[in-house]
Amino acid sequence: METFAVGFARPDRWSWGRPAARDHPWHAVAAHRPPEELDGEVELAVCGAIVQVWGSQTWERTGAGRTACPQCVSITGAGSALTPDRLTPTG
Ligand SMILES: [Zn+2]
Repeated sequence: METFAVGFARPDRWSWGRPAARDHPWHAVAAHRPPEELDGEVELAVCGAIVQVWGSQTWERTGAGRTACPQCVSITGAGSALTPDRLTPTG
């Protein structure tokens, strides 16, 4: 099974046209190394966002929360038990 580290969206990369980035700052990063080792690294999230890895967080837990990126949750299946009711296309 693939391991995912937790990444936090970098404020300087936030796009004003996509307010969802502010509501869901947490993303999943495919971890090829233990998440602790990736701590602080800037990585590409599975949804394509540029994020900074927080090695102390676990995607299993963060992905189930409301502030997790819906796209990352969907790709990783972390929130399969939850309904993505806030998934609205913004163009
Ligand atoms: Zn994401």
